[in-house]
Amino acid sequence: MADFSFDLVVVGGGPAGATTALHLVRHEGIAPRRVLVVDKARFPRDKPCAGAVSAHGVRVLARLGLEIGVPHVAMCGVRVMLGDAVGESTLAMGIVARRIELDSWLLDVARRDGVVVREGDALTGLERIAGGFRLTTARGEVVTTRLVAACDGAGGATRKLLGLREPERKGHLYVLETDVARADVGVRRGLVDFDLSVLADGVEGYYWDFPTVIDGRPAVSRGIYHANMTASREVKASLRRALARRGVDLAKVTPRAFSTRPFVRGSVTWVPGVVLVGEAAGIDRTTGEGIAQAMAMGGLAARHLARALRTGSGTFVAYDHDVRRSTFGRHLLESAWLARRVYAPAFAPARRYLLRSDYARRTALRWYRGESLPLAAKLRMALELGGDAVSGGLSDLRAS
Ligand SMILES: Cc1cc2nc3c(=O)[nH]c(=O)nc-3n(C[C@H](O)[C@H](O)[C@H](O)COP(=O)(O)OP(=O)(O)OC[C@H]3O[C@@H](n4cnc5c(N)ncnc54)[C@H](O)[C@@H]3O)c2cc1C
Repeated sequence: MADFSFDLVVVGGGPAGATTALHLVRHEGIAPRRVLVVDKARFPRDKPCAGAVSAHGVRVLARLGLEIGVPHVAMCGVRVMLGDAVGESTLAMGIVARRIELDSWLLDVARRDGVVVREGDALTGLERIAGGFRLTTARGEVVTTRLVAACDGAGGATRKLLGLREPERKGHLYVLETDVARADVGVRRGLVDFDLSVLADGVEGYYWDFPTVIDGRPAVSRGIYHANMTASREVKASLRRALARRGVDLAKVTPRAFSTRPFVRGSVTWVPGVVLVGEAAGIDRTTGEGIAQAMAMGGLAARHLARALRTGSGTFVAYDHDVRRSTFGRHLLESAWLARRVYAPAFAPARRYLLRSDYARRTALRWYRGESLPLAAKLRMALELGGDAVSGGLSDLRAS
């Protein structure tokens, strides 16, 4: 067999890349010096993101023997808002950390474990050779490897170099951070706000306020998510209005725009010799979230990459199967299905139900935390939603 520089090159050192490398080294017995992580950015690098890591992601890190090693705040519950109506539920949801700190810490852990990390150098070329790949980087480095883990997120190079098409339209987000304002009554109590009022502007998504911490001071991550199943030019204007309702002037802050790749039924998770992990494959289309999913997918990818290194196989059919059958994978697919419905005008009864019912919100939070929902919970929600739709329809009739 040819002599390769590395057994595996991980392209991208974000949550997907760092956890893939860590799972390989800590759980799969792969020698760290045989794994290269290459990232085009120099860390600490920022990533436009609200930094909410669901309890599922915290559990994945715990299984790696890690406690979040950067400043963070607990998410203690949720407030769902629509116009003047607010539905509040408390349940430990996970944590919020700033990506500039979180990602740098996680990649450092991998580096300290002995993984080879090359920063500030982008993958620019990928060529198949016998038994593996020859990769080239922007700085002109050439490395050979048996396998590749594409962990380079929504705007990475690997998919393009492999000729993979986008499975669906990408979501759009704007994010910014501010001091805590007088209107931030939920954030002060560690609650995360999802405001659905932006649906009235044609946004397929929500406006958010999450508690965060900057240089030891409480702060707020704010932003808007548009799933973008239907194109809209109103997203920034909608953000401006939502911010104004909270006393924040868009003209005085600097929102950063970024796209998200949704995970859908037709998403590709591998091609021979390459696995796609995290947002390189896709993330949650209803919420626009993907940190915990990227970390969990990193664990599955590592298991299948290690097996491929042992057997010399380059096919990852079983990885694809395991992704789709895992709890997070089923949630990703459910979310792709839900996104088309939950923001649609016809889904107004379900939104009313979510605002009215603590049970519905707590069930949604359990789903967000990465728990499998028992059939009984789904049935109860369906029955209550049916009752709500009937009574909502009757009161609409009475009002007309
Ligand atoms: C505004 C916004 C807010 C969000 N808020 C949340 C949230 O609160 N909670 C949540 O769970 N998710 C959130 N998300 C989604 C979340 O940011 C992503 O799901 C997550 O970053 C995916 O992790 P990843 O490791 O797959 O990719 P990334 O974190 O994007 O990491 C990819 C890495 O690849 C590197 N790279 C790219 N191209 C190359 C190349 N050619 N060569 C080498 N390296 C390359 C990049 O520099 C980067 O470091 C948000 C997204 C946006 C846009």
